[in-house]
Amino acid sequence: KRVLLTGASGFIAAHVLKILVAEGFWIRATVRSDAKAKAIAAVYPDAVKNGQLEFGIVEDIAAPHAHDKVVVADPPLDYVLHTASPFHMNVQDPKKDMLDPAVNGTRGLLESVKQHAPSVKRVVITSSFASILNADKLSPPWPGKVYSEDDWNPITWEKALTDPSNTYRGSKTFAEKAGWDFVKTEKPNFDLVTLCPPMVFGPIINDQTLASLNTSNQRINGYLSGQLTAVAPTGVHLWIDVRDLALAHVRALTIPEAGGNRFFTLADGIYTNQDICDILRKHFPEVKDRVPEGKPGAGLGLKEGEYFVGDNSKSKKILGLTYRGLEESVVDTAKSILELEKKS
Ligand code: NDP
Repeated sequence: KRVLLTGASGFIAAHVLKILVAEGFWIRATVRSDAKAKAIAAVYPDAVKNGQLEFGIVEDIAAPHAHDKVVVADPPLDYVLHTASPFHMNVQDPKKDMLDPAVNGTRGLLESVKQHAPSVKRVVITSSFASILNADKLSPPWPGKVYSEDDWNPITWEKALTDPSNTYRGSKTFAEKAGWDFVKTEKPNFDLVTLCPPMVFGPIINDQTLASLNTSNQRINGYLSGQLTAVAPTGVHLWIDVRDLALAHVRALTIPEAGGNRFFTLADGIYTNQDICDILRKHFPEVKDRVPEGKPGAGLGLKEGEYFVGDNSKSKKILGLTYRGLEESVVDTAKSILELEKKS
């Protein structure tokens, strides 16, 4: 079982890599620099030594033919996992910084696989709830709506240029659509699976620093560190633990029935910023003073049916997933952030 993992330096990819190594896959991991390859190699010295894990450098996934070389392996690849995509809110040029890498990166990778790696049976792409939701219906949070794989974000290219959140949401929507369009029109040897996670919480296991903390976990860090002094409205109240999402990636690779499917991967139930603060204050008395109190136990402040939810039944049925609860996820995330804090 031979797999290419793009964006291996990322928060989610770190957990995917951990499972791939443990399950005995042969892995070529792409990163943007030698320094990032070395940092990951240091986590898996045995896998590197015995040839189970090697690295490919792809400085910019948006560049034409960026993946032509890394998809060629001997023996050839069976699978591709595409996690690389910009996810931050510091966009200067929406097209160049985010839309192009997401969309052209996805299309370019699929072209490279089709042309140079015909042995590949399946490509799994990390998409997002951003490609499912309707951002005009976040506030109030679309009463009664149950989001599923059938929903697509109606965002237009023009709207995606208007602010960083819309740019990110557009980048994920257009990239995922580009993937599905590619398999439809090009009819490659591989089938496609896309995963659509909402907010992703969970422990940080690569060499990230607090300054480069991934976007979703910045929220937990914001409350834990006291930078966020009031409990803000939650916005998107759907989430998943990164360890469950990583397992979803690996299952999506190998379960035959997963092919050709889009999966909305999310935990049961919802989270709110108030829940995060309640959990932090309960489990970490040493930082209780810096975590805002808000209104403990108030949650979203709405009754069931008064806000949107998500349907994760397809991911449970076909990928066989069970999902961690919020308390475990927030506690483990906070522990790993506090560890990073000690180191910095
Ligand atoms: P990270 O920012 O930690 O990881 C993103 C990865 O993509 C990094 O390895 C980054 O490399 C790489 N990358 C970004 N732009 C480029 C580029 N132009 N060329 C080459 N590599 C690039 O984010 P996450 O782990 O959170 O995200 C991984 C995937 O999951 C993304 O596709 C994201 O959209 C998706 N996702 C994340 C969610 C979340 O809440 N975390 C929610 C839903 C989806 P480098 O670090 O070197 O820049």
